[in-house]
Amino acid sequence: MTRLAKPLSKIAPHYDVIVVGSGYGGAVTASRLARAGKHVAILERGREVVTGEFPNRFPELRNEIRITGANIKTGKPDALFDIRLNEDMHIIVGCGLGGGSLINAGVALRPDNRVFEDNHWPREIRDDGTLDEGFRRADAWLSPTSHHNADKLTKYRALEAATEDTGSTIVSPPVAVSFAENKNPAGILQPACTLCGDCCSGCNVGAKNTVALNYLPDAVRHGAELFTHAHVQTVTRADENDPWTVTLSPISSNGKHEDGQQITIKAGIVVLSAGTLGSTEILLRSAGAGLKTSQTLGQRFSANGDIIAFGYGATPEINAVGIGHPPKIENFEVGPAVSGQLEIDDEQTLDNEIRVQDGVLPSAIAPILPVMFVPNGRLLGALKSLINGVYKGPFKHLQTFFAVSHDNAKGAFSLKKDRLTLSWPNAKDQPVYARLDAILDKITSNSGGSYVKNPLAGSVMGHQPATAHPLGGCAMAETHETGVVNHKCQVFNPALANGANSVHDGLYVIDGAVIPRSLGVNPLLTITALAERAMIHISDDYDLNYDCDPAGPETQTTPNAPGLPSPCSYEKVHGGHKQRSIEPTG
Ligand SMILES: Cc1cc2nc3c(=O)[nH]c(=O)nc-3n(C[C@H](O)[C@H](O)[C@H](O)COP(=O)(O)OP(=O)(O)OC[C@H]3O[C@@H](n4cnc5c(N)ncnc54)[C@H](O)[C@@H]3O)c2cc1C
Ligand code: SF4
Repeated sequence: MTRLAKPLSKIAPHYDVIVVGSGYGGAVTASRLARAGKHVAILERGREVVTGEFPNRFPELRNEIRITGANIKTGKPDALFDIRLNEDMHIIVGCGLGGGSLINAGVALRPDNRVFEDNHWPREIRDDGTLDEGFRRADAWLSPTSHHNADKLTKYRALEAATEDTGSTIVSPPVAVSFAENKNPAGILQPACTLCGDCCSGCNVGAKNTVALNYLPDAVRHGAELFTHAHVQTVTRADENDPWTVTLSPISSNGKHEDGQQITIKAGIVVLSAGTLGSTEILLRSAGAGLKTSQTLGQRFSANGDIIAFGYGATPEINAVGIGHPPKIENFEVGPAVSGQLEIDDEQTLDNEIRVQDGVLPSAIAPILPVMFVPNGRLLGALKSLINGVYKGPFKHLQTFFAVSHDNAKGAFSLKKDRLTLSWPNAKDQPVYARLDAILDKITSNSGGSYVKNPLAGSVMGHQPATAHPLGGCAMAETHETGVVNHKCQVFNPALANGANSVHDGLYVIDGAVIPRSLGVNPLLTITALAERAMIHISDDYDLNYDCDPAGPETQTTPNAPGLPSPCSYEKVHGGHKQRSIEPTG
């Protein structure tokens, strides 16, 4: 099986560019700067999980869950699902080569234009035209499309039937999924989606257009070096004229931090793309070590008005539990993790807009569904799964909803005992949650079932809201008085005398952390577009040239999915960089 990452022992002491994190922001950055001929290293704390290795059974899934909070720390640091428990709101993010793209539903939507009219964005975002180009490039490389037969899927039809009296319309939203076999923009052959529904535990078919199958292999093809198990702690520099120093703690191959060991490497440009949580944490820790940053660092956290909720006991069949690959049951069609979207628009008040999607739970979670949803579920579950399995019993009628809207972005991160902690008093009382409850209650009762807001309320999750769309913390703004980075994603330096918009030379944040407000739609396309936009500006500022045309027929095909012939080697277009190994310092 083709792998992209190199062992950490091969890392060089110096690069032109260090990119921290390998989700959407990091993958775009690495691809574009490697195409421009820069010697790029990507540092990712998680591990490389390739097609065919994603969890398929509950014990494997359980092994891929890391939960941390004030009084809890369980699971491996390189587990795929990173769940952070906070007093006011919980957060789930992806961890691994490809970041959130590995475990998300791939819904790729552009926000309403009114989102960008908000003055929390720097005016250049609205005015200079490069955001449109960013969206165009993001679209070309992630290739989102709607499922052509969505309206034949039972879960779509059930959502459609439940729209009555909701003032909504139903559409099939574009998802970053290959519904037909194709050669993708990075020259990789991707097979067609089998409609197995397991997108949110990782696609074992190779049909989901994750950045591990497009931007990251493109970066490697152009000479970037990719290292996993590299948990970055700080980015600092002694003097304005020095290169940046990135300090990381290696994680061992058994998924544990190697106690006390640290590696330092240097670069002229450092891009933090460790996601909303990771980049904010690294900057907060670096600020503690002396880096000058905006006073607003950590603020403007938004959950994107996002929740996951359920409907139990619907009359029609829903079929929204994945069947996995290879399929656990024959002749059964689920669909991609999202195929239908109910839209509530409001031309007067943007905040009232809501998107509700017909989600799917991954097949590996199936064995614990009775325990989650049914009183005495342990007993019933054991009985039912013996007799019917979740594909025939009451769970054939289980609805899963992914809902997105707008919140007030008033959450704030800080470091407490070196742990990133979210504070957002009364977050759960924001009007958005009452609006979501009302519409979900209506949809589930229209379907003949009942609304189950939080089946895990009795567990460590409690009654707090939880989000999979964390945004902000290093918000974009016009000056350091109102944000952490400028419209080009350069980190403000408030210590410089020459104005409130002075920046650190060569230090960037490019990921969901820079988004200063809720988007009202799933964020991956906007994060990718902002990253493509930042690359347009970086190439102007550093006089770089690159093209970002998708692979043509002449591009070497690079299969990276099971069942496809002969693993390839990633050929360097730019490169010839010498690799020197450096030993971890004690
Ligand atoms: C279950 C689920 C479903 C989702 N569905 C959708 C959807 O359908 N559509 C959509 O638009 N969005 C969806 N999202 C959200 C979307 O995936 C994220 O918004 C997106 O991945 C964020 O991109 P990013 O570039 O900001 O960071 P990420 O994708 O989070 O990548 C950051 C990377 O940095 C790494 N990292 C973190 N800290 C460090 C460190 N200190 N050192 C080194 N590496 C580090 C992380 O391991 C990670 O790989 C979903 C998320 C989840 C969890
Ligand atoms: S439905 Fe299955 S095959 Fe299709 S993208 Fe999702 S996980 Fe992959």
